[in-house]
Amino acid sequence: MSDVRQHAEDVHEQFSDHIDVAVDDVEGRLRTLVDEYKVPVEEARRSVTNHYLEEAGLEREDIAGGGSEAAEIEDVDEPEQWIDLTAKVIELWEPRSDSVAQVGLLGDPTGTIKFTKWAKSDLPSLSEGGVYELRNVVTDEYEGRYSVKLNSTTGIEEVEGDLEVGDDTSVVEGALVDMQRGSGLIKRCPHDDCTRVLQNGRCNEHGEVEGEFDLRIKGVVDDGIDAHEVIFDAEATEGLTGISLEEAKEMAMDALDTTVVADEIRDRVVGTYYRIEGPTFGRYVLADDVEELDGAVDGEALLIRARSM
Ligand SMILES: [Zn+2]
Repeated sequence: MSDVRQHAEDVHEQFSDHIDVAVDDVEGRLRTLVDEYKVPVEEARRSVTNHYLEEAGLEREDIAGGGSEAAEIEDVDEPEQWIDLTAKVIELWEPRSDSVAQVGLLGDPTGTIKFTKWAKSDLPSLSEGGVYELRNVVTDEYEGRYSVKLNSTTGIEEVEGDLEVGDDTSVVEGALVDMQRGSGLIKRCPHDDCTRVLQNGRCNEHGEVEGEFDLRIKGVVDDGIDAHEVIFDAEATEGLTGISLEEAKEMAMDALDTTVVADEIRDRVVGTYYRIEGPTFGRYVLADDVEELDGAVDGEALLIRARSM
């Protein structure tokens, strides 16, 4: 089979569910461009594809990329790939746009990934906790983060049973917009296995105790869709701020006040973009792995949003 014929069959396959067109018609259009106008075949294919998209009133993402492949979430490392996933809906988030029907987090044994389901795709609703076979989803990338889009060609089939999700690790990327109370230099109960944070020198369980200093940040990270509560332990806090537990203690001693530490930390981290990876614990993500990202942040706008959360 000739090269042009193969391309014609591929293009035909992509549109077969949408418009009534013969392979010969597709080939004819390709041949005209390739033979008469000496257009390279790949470019001719793009042009012919665009022609049929317009004829069918479709967007590029509405048509299949010529057969999608079964993939796992960790394999997603390129945009505009058409893949099939079997995944569990871990979380649904509130869509921020009318064009989005559902948005949330999918997980499989290899990891998690954000998904978006377009309103105009008219697909059935996914439920939190449900496991689905998703055929023909397209990968997307935005500033290094990958997601998958469910579109009008996507097939959704609910699968019986549960699916193990890769060690519950979450990845949060966004701006640290706020720091909660209980951040900075804190004191913990010294009793074995207690480690509760003391309030005014008292442990809820053990009463008044001589606490042990610890350093942490309870931060709110906004990924543009959702606010995530993230806990940075002493090590992660030092990584973020350059302030070690020892230095924090000295700062507090010099000032005769522990709140100076939280103030200093706030100045250094609020408004900065991070990529945070770690296990989820209740509603918190525990920051195991933190990377600072580029990104200019409008401090005023962030504050307004943080307050509105
Ligand atoms: Zn205690």
